[in-house]
Amino acid sequence: MGCVPSRDEASHEVRPDHGAPPDGSSDDGKDRPRMNRADTTHYTRVHEAAMAEIFRSGNGVVGLRNLGNTCFMNACLQSLCHAVGLADYFLGYEWHAEINASNPIGFGGELAKAFGELMEAMWSQSARTSIVPVEFKAAMSRCAPMFAGHEQHDAHELLTFLLDALHEDLNRCESKPYVEAVECDGTDQDECAAEAWAGYLKRDRSIIVDLFQGQLRSSVGCARCGHKCVKFDPFQYLSVPVVKSGVDIEQCIEDFSAEERLDGDNAWSCAACRQRVRASKRLELWKLPPLLVIHLKRFDFDTRGRAAKVETYVDFPLVDLDLSAYCQSPQRDIPLYDCFAVINHHGHAGGGHYTAFARNRVDNAWYHYNDANVTRVQDIDEVKTSDAYVLLYSRVVFDQTSSSGRSFSRLRPQRSQSGDSPGIIVRRQSISLPHLWPHFRGEPDRDHANISLKSLVNNKETTINKPKKRKVKTYRSLSNGKLRYDRTPSTEKKKKKMKKRAL
Ligand SMILES: [Zn+2]
Repeated sequence: MGCVPSRDEASHEVRPDHGAPPDGSSDDGKDRPRMNRADTTHYTRVHEAAMAEIFRSGNGVVGLRNLGNTCFMNACLQSLCHAVGLADYFLGYEWHAEINASNPIGFGGELAKAFGELMEAMWSQSARTSIVPVEFKAAMSRCAPMFAGHEQHDAHELLTFLLDALHEDLNRCESKPYVEAVECDGTDQDECAAEAWAGYLKRDRSIIVDLFQGQLRSSVGCARCGHKCVKFDPFQYLSVPVVKSGVDIEQCIEDFSAEERLDGDNAWSCAACRQRVRASKRLELWKLPPLLVIHLKRFDFDTRGRAAKVETYVDFPLVDLDLSAYCQSPQRDIPLYDCFAVINHHGHAGGGHYTAFARNRVDNAWYHYNDANVTRVQDIDEVKTSDAYVLLYSRVVFDQTSSSGRSFSRLRPQRSQSGDSPGIIVRRQSISLPHLWPHFRGEPDRDHANISLKSLVNNKETTINKPKKRKVKTYRSLSNGKLRYDRTPSTEKKKKKMKKRAL
């Protein structure tokens, strides 16, 4: 979106109560000793002692100077700076070792390095009021020329680009092998979803996958023959419609999953009918990630590409957003989320200004980040406004050691008296360790790689090593003297078999 700079953007005053004036340096923290990786194969783990060390030098409450219409960038960076798990990875983990410099669709690690250095700077300054993120802006402009210059852009677009770029720069997959698409007719969905995830992990594994990516179920049904095609796709954020006034986030998520009619130009090619047919399509939540990004579709574009803004107030809970009712598969843990950041868009489409609210993990207070200007939020209800544009939630982590299973902890560093608490643990997604996937519903402390997909979803242990390859079935039949291959749904086939038996 092309934007007009907001009037007071260039003149944000530095608040004196945050300490010394900024000097533009963002090199602080470079000499900080790096912490050892605790368990590099299973989890990305940062020890509490290491985080406590970081919190001694900085508390994360730091402004970012506007470099000429860069409020969209600053609002995104503030949100990610306060994403527990992501910040920990860049602060305490040897992320340099994971840079994939040879990934042709990455940026040679340049963006990850610039982001990592900025995160370190943001968490090591308490005496300064703000940072000038000039190096990050330069790196971003080199990697994505569309964000160069001084035009304002859509903050959600940048957030998406940034997460994609970090993912590719830190992708643990050396190569991207061809992976056959997995689909099913609606039966054995758990297995099909797990296989689709395994296929995805052959090409894409990174901290971004571990933290931000879940799985959606996409199902299309033929209105003519009833044939169903179900697929499971990874997602990194939910773009939810804002269609009614007086709406809440649960309603927006429900609308996201509303049935869509495919007809006319959008008609669906039914594999069973072998022709284009009327069909219904639905997109639903299947597996939810530790960090959930929800984008409110506030900008409507007309046929000429002109944007209009939906100004509707959307209510959203700051704690305990329960998505159980909207998730179509049983989850490992209850999908309960707390909000940790909100990106706001103020003003109208084609202009305006971005700011962010973020909850601080050290003092648990909310702060408003308006470029270099940072203010503590006095009343948390101030966080919920009709300017809310992107909501960032972190999943509540349940205490797996509790026998009752009822106790849980929030995704933030846990203070323990012994000083030996494990801190933040992020399950590293890998093909050989399916018990760390979101699909697994059994005991978390087992360490068996030899779990088949079937037992994985059924919560039974077996010694089968390799998941069976699943292909779209083809049926051979003789029709008018010609040999014909058909993708008849297996349920139809089963029905026919049953009929035969009955005869
Ligand atoms: Zn059909």
